[in-house]
Amino acid sequence: MAHDPQCAGSRPCGAPARPGSDPPRRPPQLCGPHAPPWRRALAQGLRQGAAFLRACLATDCPLCRGAARGARLCGECARDASASLEGMRRCPRCDLPAFAAMRTGAAAGPQAQAGPAGCGCPLAQAPFEALVSGFEYRPPADQLVLRLKNRLQLSAAGALAGLLARRVRQAPWAAQPDWWLVPVPASRASLLRRGFNPAAEIARRLSGELHWPVRGAWLRRVREPRAKQTRLGRRQRQLAARDAYRAAPAVRGRKVALVDDVVTTGATAVAAAQALREAGAARVVVLAAARTPAPGGPADLAK
Ligand SMILES: [Zn+2]
Ligand SMILES: [Zn+2]
Repeated sequence: MAHDPQCAGSRPCGAPARPGSDPPRRPPQLCGPHAPPWRRALAQGLRQGAAFLRACLATDCPLCRGAARGARLCGECARDASASLEGMRRCPRCDLPAFAAMRTGAAAGPQAQAGPAGCGCPLAQAPFEALVSGFEYRPPADQLVLRLKNRLQLSAAGALAGLLARRVRQAPWAAQPDWWLVPVPASRASLLRRGFNPAAEIARRLSGELHWPVRGAWLRRVREPRAKQTRLGRRQRQLAARDAYRAAPAVRGRKVALVDDVVTTGATAVAAAQALREAGAARVVVLAAARTPAPGGPADLAK
C-alpha cells in the first residue's frame, strides 16, 4: 500500500516516509470570534453555568455581614446603596442631580452647556451619550470601592458590578443589542501597586451580570500620568488625561460601554471616550461603579 503524503495519522501506516517530506501538519486551531458556533455556544453555556453556581453560593454581605448570595450585597444594603441615586431627577449625561449639575456647570465655566436634563451640564460636550453609575460615592457603600482598590479584595468587584447592573438595566439604551464592555486601562504605576486593574475586574463581573462581552484590548494607555489623579483639580485632571488613551481599529462601528470604578470630574471618561470615537466607535456610554456627589449636592447641603 502506497504511503499517502497527506496522511496525518499519529501511527505509521506501513509505508516508509518520503525522504525530505514535511512532518504532518496539525489542523489550524481556531479561537475567539473564529471558533465554530458550537464551541462559542459551549463556552457561553459554561460561563453562564459558572455564574449561576456563584450566584447560588451562600456568603456574607460585604457591608453588614448579613446573609447574601454570591459575594453580593444583601437586599437591604443593595436597596440603601441604590437609594443614594433615587428620589431626584438626574441628568442622563453626567448622572448628577439636575440642580447639582447646574451648580457644577456654573463652576466649570463657559464649557458647561444646557444638558439633556435642562441643567447646566458640566459634561454636555462629552464624547459619550450617557453616564450610568451604581451608587453615589459616600458611606457606607464607598467601602466596597476602598476594599477593592486599597485592600485588594477582588470579591468587592462582584458587589459593585451587581449594583451597577441594577441601574444599567433601567437605562433605555441598554435594551438594544450588541454592547461591548471596555474597561478604562489602569496606569502602569497602579498596575504594579495592585497587580490588577479595578475597572477590568468590575467589567469582568458586569459581563457575568449583563452577558455583554468584555474587550480589554480595545483601549490602551499610551501616556502615563505624572501625578496621582486624586491630588489634581478639574482642569489639571483634564490636561493629565488628554491623549492618554488609544483605541484599537476593532472598535469601528461598535457600541461601547466604557467601564470605570469611580467618576469624579469625568476627565478620564472624556479622554477614553474621545479615543474610542476617534477610532470609529458608533456609540459610547460610560458605566461607573460609583459617582462622586457634586459639590453643593445633598451630601454637602446636609453638613
Ligand atoms: Zn448587607
Ligand atoms: Zn449633566
